[in-house]
Amino acid sequence: MSSYIYIDGWKSNIRFSSAHIIPEYEKCGRLHGHTYAVHAKIIGKPDEKGIILDFSILKDALREIVSILDHRVLIPEKSGVVTIERENDSIKLSSLGKTYVFPMNDCVLLPISSTSAEKLAQYILKAFMEKITLPKHTESIEIGVDEGFGQGARMSKTFQE
Ligand SMILES: [Zn+2]
Repeated sequence: MSSYIYIDGWKSNIRFSSAHIIPEYEKCGRLHGHTYAVHAKIIGKPDEKGIILDFSILKDALREIVSILDHRVLIPEKSGVVTIERENDSIKLSSLGKTYVFPMNDCVLLPISSTSAEKLAQYILKAFMEKITLPKHTESIEIGVDEGFGQGARMSKTFQE
């Protein structure tokens, strides 16, 4: 028997709107934005009180993570094609012949190689695991990031019992 809890970011308002560039792809290589929603699925066994994990703990942790990303330019610090230079209060991005300069406060630097939905899901999964103590009967957790309605990526981590 298997059970899980699920949070739908669109319906639970765990969303963020951000700008990004994916230089490796021509169309995505132009600065543009999305509204993203973050979903979470926790697979495990209910405890003696009958719950896997308190929904509010789950939602609060996700909201804290997305608040860091919301209304900012997402910058992949580990990109192989984006050069990042800090100049006073600005950040200069150079990639494949283009240069952008943004105020530092409008940006968030992320320890990922790309700001694709896949890599954002990976980043959020890691940040989420650092933020909350998972119940001991957790079997796996999955984080989903939708880039607009109807398309998104899912990243999961499974634990050994
Ligand atoms: Zn995009």
